[in-house]
Amino acid sequence: MKKLLLALAACASLGGLAACSEGAEGDGAAPTDAGEVNVYTARHYDTDLALYEDFTKTTGIKVNRIEADADALIERIAAEGEFSPADVFVTVDAGRLARAEEAGILAEVDSPVLQERIPAHLRDPKNRWFALTTRARIIIYNKAKGQPAGLATYEDLAKPEFKGRICMRSSSSVYNIALLSSIIAHDGAAKAESWAKGLVANFARPPQGNDMSNIEAVAAGECDISLVNTYYLARFASGEKRKVLDGVGIIFPNQATTGAHVNMSGAGVVKSSPNRANAVKFLEYLASDTAQQLLAGGNNEYPTAKGVAATSAVEALGSFKADTLSAAEIGKGQPQAVTIFNRAGWN
Ligand code: FE
Repeated sequence: MKKLLLALAACASLGGLAACSEGAEGDGAAPTDAGEVNVYTARHYDTDLALYEDFTKTTGIKVNRIEADADALIERIAAEGEFSPADVFVTVDAGRLARAEEAGILAEVDSPVLQERIPAHLRDPKNRWFALTTRARIIIYNKAKGQPAGLATYEDLAKPEFKGRICMRSSSSVYNIALLSSIIAHDGAAKAESWAKGLVANFARPPQGNDMSNIEAVAAGECDISLVNTYYLARFASGEKRKVLDGVGIIFPNQATTGAHVNMSGAGVVKSSPNRANAVKFLEYLASDTAQQLLAGGNNEYPTAKGVAATSAVEALGSFKADTLSAAEIGKGQPQAVTIFNRAGWN
């Protein structure tokens, strides 16, 4: 985080958004100037910086980065219209990928490399975006108290026997919004709403913190059960914090039904891209073994490119059946999910 803040501090502020330039610094001969690529990204992981540097090192293409919230980026690209300098849009939520596509800001990309590397269910049918990494939102429980009986699905979390045992982060988190949207897609809005209400009735405390602090709360026995993203669990795999991970048990939900809810980060080439060839090159690079290892490995996510392995910390969480709901479906129910959370009193 510190590294990211330093990098951002060195960036000029453009209309409230940070604009950053990753030069081809470091050792070795400076690559020949092969132009630039303007990346509008909503990924907030400082490990991605190494990726941009490596791309510049190998191609000579300079990466200019604009970093902001995905919705702000979509709005900005749409507002800039045909004069937008944006070449590539990167985000961390399937719903935002679907929204970018609906906003008409993404171009169809005809790249045999991308079509070969990224499985069909992890890219837009018209190749307007490609998933780069995935993460699952899974159930954790306090290991010392044992695995709660009758808890195997997201739906089970609303059962009355779990009253007073569940701690969660705020419903404003897109991780929860995307999950509820997927439940709406599978079970319908009425069932999704009674689920949300049942879960709120089971809260051990008002929603608070983030996935990291809720993992710590479950490990410490402050509450018994929570829902968190896989990569946050993997962050506790080494070092002093290992005892936190050892204190929680893991349940991959809905293994006998729809599979564990999976969200994705992904990218697409912007329709008005002034450096289109470089933009496609950048996406193809993101699907390469090296980039996939940096992208997924740096944040303990699952790589999407065929034949690339996740980190050992991620593999150790276990294998599971993933929900294959499309990005469009994960996105579609999000506005309704927000309304349901409000009605259910999930702050
Ligand atoms: Fe996150």
